[in-house]
Amino acid sequence: MSNKKRALVCGAGGFIGSHLVKKLKNEGYWVRGVDLKNPDFSPTEADEFILGDLRDQTVCRNVLDQSFDEVYQLAADMGGAGYIFTGEHDADVMHNSASINLNIVELAHKQKVGKIFYSSSACMYPSYNQEDPNNPKCSEDSAYPAAPDSEYGWEKLFSERLYLSYFRNYGLNVRIARFHNIFGPLGTWKGGKEKAPAALCRKVAEAKDGGEIEIWGDGEQTRSFLYIDECIEGVRRLMDSNFTGPVNIGSDEMVTINQLAKMIMKSAGKKLTIKHISGPLGVRGRNSDNTLIKEKLKWAPSQPLQDGLKITYEWINKKINP
Ligand code: NAD
Repeated sequence: MSNKKRALVCGAGGFIGSHLVKKLKNEGYWVRGVDLKNPDFSPTEADEFILGDLRDQTVCRNVLDQSFDEVYQLAADMGGAGYIFTGEHDADVMHNSASINLNIVELAHKQKVGKIFYSSSACMYPSYNQEDPNNPKCSEDSAYPAAPDSEYGWEKLFSERLYLSYFRNYGLNVRIARFHNIFGPLGTWKGGKEKAPAALCRKVAEAKDGGEIEIWGDGEQTRSFLYIDECIEGVRRLMDSNFTGPVNIGSDEMVTINQLAKMIMKSAGKKLTIKHISGPLGVRGRNSDNTLIKEKLKWAPSQPLQDGLKITYEWINKKINP
């Protein structure tokens, strides 16, 4: 253990966190994970897993009882549009995620950790730049004047600034990524916190060929979706680089939600009609601008969306139709 790099993953019971733990283990790290819950779909691969609430400073002191080479802060109170855009969870989202970040950044500084990664979100971009579904603007320098469309986005913006303040004032070695809609196996696919790709995979898997699925809104809102393996690759590359960020980690293959549904139907080999119903939507258009990541990391995600959807559909379909 002594020669191994030591990493702490906060949110290791979540979707991205559990994949990251696996990656770090494959790279030879010693890993401590922490979360409110164990991973939902497969046992953790962390060397040590602490079940604990990171809003609680005593828990955080226990978790960060030593210096780590690398800390990955992914824990957040989050979900898809059905969780974030209804307004019903605003107080929890802001209080819970901000408390976690305030605790972790202070202890990371006190323990003199080697580097700390913070997962921000494309939800922090101003809504006024995302009204045209064919031409959304999400370059990193377009963040201000700030106008995120959700309290979730405002908390991400606040926490980006929090980490950057510790970088400027205390020299904390920070890395910040703005994730754009990450999807893949081991992600939440039912229960209210699932995001569009998983929700649509579930609906398609549940439907009989020739049947119908429901989509929120007219389905002409645009987004891009990044497969989990490329997200983890981007995180590790950013961490190994000298670039603080914030930088987008996302795909620039923009599709409408109707197109996304049709791609999933293609993977399933089913022909279904789409019924549009009212529901929480978010901005009209969003896409990852990958100019900066290419410049700074000499890399950007490139996997076709259809490939990741096929794997994800098969994983969800097996849960529904074993
Ligand atoms: P997730 O919900 O699967 O994982 C977050 C984890 O944090 C959960 O396991 C949850 O139990 C844990 N957590 C929440 N409150 C906690 C607390 N008080 N103490 C300890 N653990 C707590 O989400 P994810 O998709 O894996 O996202 C990881 C990070 O990436 C989050 O910060 C999220 O905001 C950010 N992000 C994700 C996406 C995406 O598309 N998945 C997009 C943008 C940003």
